[in-house]
Amino acid sequence: MNFLSRLTGSFAMPAAENPTVAMVEAAYRHHDLDWRYINCEVPPESLADAVVGAKAMGWAGFNCSLPHKVAVIEYLDSLGQSAELMGAVNCVVRRDGKWIGENTDGKGFLCSLQEHVDPAGMRIVMFGAGGAARAISVELALAGADQITVVNRNRERGQVLAELLNGDVRQQSPAGFSAEFVEWSGDYSLPEDTDVVINATSIGLYPDVDARLALDLDSLTDKMIVADVIPNPPKTNLVKDATTRGCRVIDGIGMLVNQGVTGIEYWTGVRPDASVMRAALEDIFSG
Ligand code: NDP
Repeated sequence: MNFLSRLTGSFAMPAAENPTVAMVEAAYRHHDLDWRYINCEVPPESLADAVVGAKAMGWAGFNCSLPHKVAVIEYLDSLGQSAELMGAVNCVVRRDGKWIGENTDGKGFLCSLQEHVDPAGMRIVMFGAGGAARAISVELALAGADQITVVNRNRERGQVLAELLNGDVRQQSPAGFSAEFVEWSGDYSLPEDTDVVINATSIGLYPDVDARLALDLDSLTDKMIVADVIPNPPKTNLVKDATTRGCRVIDGIGMLVNQGVTGIEYWTGVRPDASVMRAALEDIFSG
C-alpha cells in the first residue's frame, strides 16, 4: 500500500484557463500512474518560493508558462540544448537530484510535423516572432530545415529572431541552414517553393476567432503543409482556408498534446498515449 502520489504541476499566472491539467491527468489515469499534476497560480514575486517548495516536496518536475519562462532559469541547475538556445524554459525535470530546464513547446510542434513529414531540407515560412515562434524555429533548424523565413509585423522582434537563428542556432544545425526576416505589411504572398507554412502568432485565438492572417490565399497550394499553433479553437480560419485548398493541415491541439507527451515522458519515463490526451482537450474545446 502506498498513499504517496508522485507530484508534478504547473506554475503560471493566470492559470485558471490552462487546460493542461486535464490532458496530463487523463494520461496518468490511462497508464495507471499514481501521479498528480497540480495547476498553481504563482505571481512573479512568488516564483522563487514556489520552486523551493516544489524541491522541498520532492516534485518530479513542473511546467512553467507565462510569465515565468525566462525568470525560472536562475533557480535551475542547467538547461537542455534547445532551452539554452531559446533562453526560455517551459518544462523543468528533476534528473539525479538536479533541476534541468527544457523547452517542450518547439519539440511538441516538431512531433506534430514529423507525423506528416521530415522537416530536413524543407523551406519554411513562419508568421510570428514571439515565444512560440522562437521555440518552433529553433527546433526546426536543429532538425535540419533548409530555410526559415520569419514574417513578423514588429521589425525589431523579427530581426532579433532571424539573428538568433543565423547565429548560435546555425552553428548547431546541420550545414546549409539559413533564416531571413520579412517585415509583414499587407497580404503576404508565399513563395512557390514553400514546403511548410506556420502560423506562430496569436491570430485566431479565442475570443478573436474571426481574425485572419494577412495572407494571399491564392499563393497557398496543395503541395504545402500548413500548421497553426492556436489550440482554441483548433479550426481557425487558416486551418479552414488551407483545408479548402487541399493542403495537409496540422492544428494547434497537436502541438499542445505533443509537448505534454514529451513532458510526461521526461518526468515519468512512460511515453503516454497521445490520443487519450487529445480526446481530453477536444472534450474541453468542443464544450
Ligand atoms: P507572444 O506574445 O510572444 O508573440 C505573439 C506573436 O503574434 C508576435 O509575433 C506578434 O507580432 C504576433 N501577433 C499578434 N497579433 C498580431 C496581429 N494582429 N497581426 C500580426 N501579428 C500579430 O506570444 P507566444 O509566441 O507566446 O504565443 C503565440 C500563440 O501561440 C498564442 O496564441 C498561444 O496560444 C500559442 N501557443 C500554442 C501552443 C500550443 O501548444 N499549441 C504553445 C505555445 C503557444 P508582433 O511581434 O508584431 O507584435
